Amino acid sequence: MINQQRLSDEFSRLASINSPPLKESTIAFYLAERLQQLGAKVRFDAAAEATGGEVGNLIAYFAGVNKDTEPILFSVHMDTVEPGGQVEPVLRDGVFYSAGDTVLGADDKAGIAELIEALEVVREQNIPHGPIEVVVTIAEEIGLVGAKHFDYSLVEARRGYALDTEGIDCMVLQAPSANHLRIKITGLAAHAGMVPELGMSAIQTAALAISQMRLGRIDHETTANIGCIKGGVASNIVPQSVSIIGEARSHDAQKLQEQTDHMLNCFEAAAEQMTRKINGSLMRPQISADVRLDFPSMSVAENAPVVKLARAAAATVGHDLKVRLGGGGSDANIFNAHGTEMIILATGMTRVHTHDEFVVVADMVHVVELLVEIIRLA
Ligand SMILES: [Zn+2]
Repeated sequence: MINQQRLSDEFSRLASINSPPLKESTIAFYLAERLQQLGAKVRFDAAAEATGGEVGNLIAYFAGVNKDTEPILFSVHMDTVEPGGQVEPVLRDGVFYSAGDTVLGADDKAGIAELIEALEVVREQNIPHGPIEVVVTIAEEIGLVGAKHFDYSLVEARRGYALDTEGIDCMVLQAPSANHLRIKITGLAAHAGMVPELGMSAIQTAALAISQMRLGRIDHETTANIGCIKGGVASNIVPQSVSIIGEARSHDAQKLQEQTDHMLNCFEAAAEQMTRKINGSLMRPQISADVRLDFPSMSVAENAPVVKLARAAAATVGHDLKVRLGGGGSDANIFNAHGTEMIILATGMTRVHTHDEFVVVADMVHVVELLVEIIRLA
């Protein structure tokens, strides 16, 4: 009942449309029309104004057919990570790759194509189903921007599935939260050859701090990274300022706080160590820290209705659904924080965010089987 050719064509069409974050109008209008053809009422929210994007998040509503149940929500994102450029999808031995120097964009277009094919099948086969809401967010790849600005009053569903993770036959019930850290160290500039004693090196302060920092994998549910460091002007100037960007993630809120505090303390300790008298007065490098919660954690219980529904659907079609711990933030983190219980389903996309990204068509068919069954049983 699944039309593999139609699914393949849909994926290929979607992959060929450029859709960098905040420049999604072409794909958005295509999807709006496509979902309308499938019988949905569609609309955009006002996220374009708030984000500076070309379009807002797209919402599609499918009325229930011969079944009156609570609505169910599916979320996917329409943007793809850079480098985008003109993606040229190539199908080779049943696998989609990108021909050129770009990602394929199976993240998240595999999920979109699968959802469209599932909706096609449901319609073609006249499968009774309750109301379905589809949210296609913008700018997921640059920090869940669309989901963060989504107008949650536009959806009714309190349960749902995000189609947006690697692998096949797995679901993510828990994902960490993250703190985003921006640190600025301000020292004192001086001529490094003539009067170095009048300077206070921001680079040296940063080095002292980072060398004392616990980074990488902290424990099974906590990670930390310093991802960017910029500063200094020339070899003969004691550097006055350094900017540092880093993050900490954890499934556990207290551990996230502890790791964040530890990182900030390392900067303070380094500043303390650098403190000395210059021209008779005590000088200390200034540390300014901006810590922002990047996304909240999500944790859906094993016995939650949305998990049971996925398991029941998988059992019906003979799939073996496994639970995997999430390592990143996704739109599902934000939906859960807004009261829609949402888990993430694998779409078959592989090696995402690289030029070697690919997706196997048979895997996409496999996911469509599950989606159709979820819709039938919801
Ligand atoms: Zn994604």
